[in-house]
Amino acid sequence: MSPAVRKVEASGEGRFICVQWEDGSESSYPCVWLRDSCQCPLCFLPSAGARRLPLEDLDVNIAVKQVALADSKKISITWPDEHTSEYEAEWLKKRCFSEEARAIMRADLFLPERQYWGSDLQLPKIPFEEIMYNDESAYKWLCTLKKVGIVLLTGAAARQGELIRLGHRIGFLRLTFYGPTWQVQDKADANNVAYTTGRLCLHTDYPVLQHPPGVQFLHCIKQTAAGGESEVVDGFHVSNKLKKQNPEAYQILTSTTVDYTDVGVDYCGFAVHCKQRIIDTDSRGQATRINYNNATRDTVFDIPAEKVRPFYAALKEFNDLLNSPEHKFTYKLKPGDILTFDNWRVLHGRQSYPSCPDVTRHLEGAYADWDVVMSRLQLLRKMVLNRD
Ligand SMILES: [Zn+2]
Repeated sequence: MSPAVRKVEASGEGRFICVQWEDGSESSYPCVWLRDSCQCPLCFLPSAGARRLPLEDLDVNIAVKQVALADSKKISITWPDEHTSEYEAEWLKKRCFSEEARAIMRADLFLPERQYWGSDLQLPKIPFEEIMYNDESAYKWLCTLKKVGIVLLTGAAARQGELIRLGHRIGFLRLTFYGPTWQVQDKADANNVAYTTGRLCLHTDYPVLQHPPGVQFLHCIKQTAAGGESEVVDGFHVSNKLKKQNPEAYQILTSTTVDYTDVGVDYCGFAVHCKQRIIDTDSRGQATRINYNNATRDTVFDIPAEKVRPFYAALKEFNDLLNSPEHKFTYKLKPGDILTFDNWRVLHGRQSYPSCPDVTRHLEGAYADWDVVMSRLQLLRKMVLNRD
């Protein structure tokens, strides 16, 4: 049911418009925002869904000349220069500035809800072909990926190329210096610690990039008989634990910039350097991205000498928490499994496996950006919920 307007009036010397809704609630809209958001063809290009009105033409002190109710579903405003604007009730209601309405809009656009987990994780599983051909399944996959941070897709073919298909399903993959997709297997003269049979400590991929890949896909093509188990940890959950357990250590890891480096040849030659905080946080101090890979953490360390030891102590405490059995979930991938996870949140590692002249374990990996994944999620949601 779309909202209806009972009454509309100017307030605050014409700098606000107050809307009384039929359900008895009220919303107040600043006039500068209303003028800026005018939906007329002069001010707005509907085909692009974009604003045409330049900020130069906006008077930040603007007040309304006249406001009227066109009908219960639309209000009309005349500005001092006789320009007129019309706003649909439903459009206005969605954009109400109340704390409550903004929280609803935020949840709709960004799906910030998180479900934390430890070793007790019930790994969400969905058949690969289902998400490829069924929009509801694909929507469920991406919602779960956002909320839980990890989803296992099952039953893909045990051959290279499935991740390319998956990339087409969401839009496109993220190209890096390791190629559009990359092969995790034991390689002579490995240019990356992943390309050995050794144990891989818990890490996030690619903190050496300024914008590390948001989502990672690992497709198991071949699995060794002994060893090679995958380990994953909810980095946001562990960050919360650290914050509680040792606020000072948390403060150090959320403020100190660490140097990362990666130099070599793969898709093309590369020599990358970057500064990252181990834990990125938002304005409320909540973890938003973990940037931790001990293998590519540089020996160059651009901080004052007296801050070095306290940093290591803090990092070690975080590392200990990550590795504690209550936080670590272990799973051995089977051929045809595709592990999809939030690379900004979930740290992953691998147990070692016996080295052998033949390739006994082969994963194909790929990345996608959260921008692309969230975009696909929103499009799928519109389709599934049949909304516009
Ligand atoms: Zn206009």
